[in-house]
Amino acid sequence: MADDAAVDLKNFIRDVPDFPKPGILFKDITPLLASPEAFNAAITRIAEHYRDRGIQLVAGIESRGFLFAAALALKLGAGVIPVRKKGKLPYKTISLSYDLEYGSDAVEVHEDAAPNGEKVLLVDDLIATGGTAAASAELLEKAGAQVVSVCFLVELAFLNGRDKLAGRDVHSLLVY
Ligand code: AMP
Repeated sequence: MADDAAVDLKNFIRDVPDFPKPGILFKDITPLLASPEAFNAAITRIAEHYRDRGIQLVAGIESRGFLFAAALALKLGAGVIPVRKKGKLPYKTISLSYDLEYGSDAVEVHEDAAPNGEKVLLVDDLIATGGTAAASAELLEKAGAQVVSVCFLVELAFLNGRDKLAGRDVHSLLVY
């Protein structure tokens, strides 16, 4: 399907106030996913940005990142790495924990996710504080990957998540 340049992707992002807790304005991407034209436009536009960058693997962050990683990988002729929450992957894993507002969380990949220094594009649906993406990028490097760039459908720029990715190449399609 051709990318219709007239498709304004922001029209397919729904604001849901106070989810999952009071004070959070949740950016719901399900309308974009449900629209063949909008989803195709989003994937095509991100893939265009990375054409000719030699991407060998696209790593998606659980779970919405998986949707983008799989589609982008097919467009770019690359494979997929799932970056998962702790305890989900069956083989030998390495993990990295990172701080949340309250408490901490951890991301995990198989230890042989990128055994030959493959060029990896890391993707998630959205960057807020940047903690998840920063930990995921660092973890992929521990697994041997060369993380060439980190990309997002949506960036909440007012949360300055890019600061946690300082020194990295970062690309987001929709900035708020
Ligand atoms: P962070 O580590 O703060 O950048 O959080 C990023 C992760 O949390 C992503 O996987 C997002 O899907 C999710 N997330 C955080 N804030 C929001 C929000 N306001 N709307 C939708 N998803 C969010």
